[in-house]
Amino acid sequence: MKKIYLYGNWKMNMLPEEGEEFCRSLADRISGRLYGSDLVDICLFPPFLAIPAVLKALPAGPVSAGAQDGYFEDRGAFTGAVSMTMVRSVGCSHVLVGHSERRHIFGETDEVVAMKLKKALNSGLKTVLCFGETLEEREGGKTIQVVQDQLLSAFQSVPEVRARDLVLAYEPVWAIGTGKNASPDDAQEVCAFAAKLALEAFGSGSLIPVLYGGSVKDSNAAELLSRQDIYGALVGGASLKVDSFLAIYENYRKAFTG
Ligand code: PEP
Repeated sequence: MKKIYLYGNWKMNMLPEEGEEFCRSLADRISGRLYGSDLVDICLFPPFLAIPAVLKALPAGPVSAGAQDGYFEDRGAFTGAVSMTMVRSVGCSHVLVGHSERRHIFGETDEVVAMKLKKALNSGLKTVLCFGETLEEREGGKTIQVVQDQLLSAFQSVPEVRARDLVLAYEPVWAIGTGKNASPDDAQEVCAFAAKLALEAFGSGSLIPVLYGGSVKDSNAAELLSRQDIYGALVGGASLKVDSFLAIYENYRKAFTG
C-alpha cells in the first residue's frame, strides 16, 4: 500500500468560521493509527481569507494548508493579486498552480503558469501543478500531446534544486465538478505518462507524485487510487465535508486491508 496524498480544493467556498469548524471535526476524525503521516498526507486549500482561521485550527498530524493560487511578482501595482511570498508568510506550506478554473475562467496561459510555478517553488512552497485536457481535445485524440505541451512548458521553469517540492495533478477539464470522472485506465495512462516526463526532466532523485483530480468521491476512490501511478487525489466538491473527504482515503485503504 502506498502513501496517499489527499488534497482538498475548497475553491470559492467556506467562510473562516466554516473552515475552523471543518478543522475541528477533522481533528476528531483523524486521531489514531489510520492517519499516520507515513500513510497519508492531507492538505486543505481554502480561499485566501479563510487561510488564517484554518491554519490556527489545523489538527496536529499529517495535515497542512495551502493557497489555491499566487502571483509571480512579490509586490506592487497588481490589484487583487496575492503573491507567493504572502502565501508563504501567513504560514502556508503548499500552493496550487495552473488549476483548470484559473486557466479557463481567468485566462491563464502556459507562460503565466510557468512563471507562477517558478515563483512558488523559489518561495519554498510545495507546489501542485495542475494540468489536463478539454473534452474536445480528448475526443480529438490529443490528450497526450496537450498534456506533454503543458508539462514541458512548465518544467522549463522549475529550478532543478526545487523539483523535489513539485507535485503534479492530472485533472481532465471535462471531469472537474461535472460528476464524470476519467476511467481508472485512462487516468492511469496519463498519470504514468506525466511521471515518465517528470523522471526524464528531473531524474530519479526527485520522486514527483502524480495525483488525479476530477469528480473523485468515495465510490470511485479505491479503483482510481489503487492504480500504479496515481498517488493521490485532488478533490473539489467532496472535500467540503469531512466525511466525504476522508471516505476517499478510507475506501482506498479498505480495498487493501478489507
Ligand atoms: C478540483 O477542483 O480540482 C476538482 C477536481 O473538483 P471536483 O472534485 O469537484 O471535480
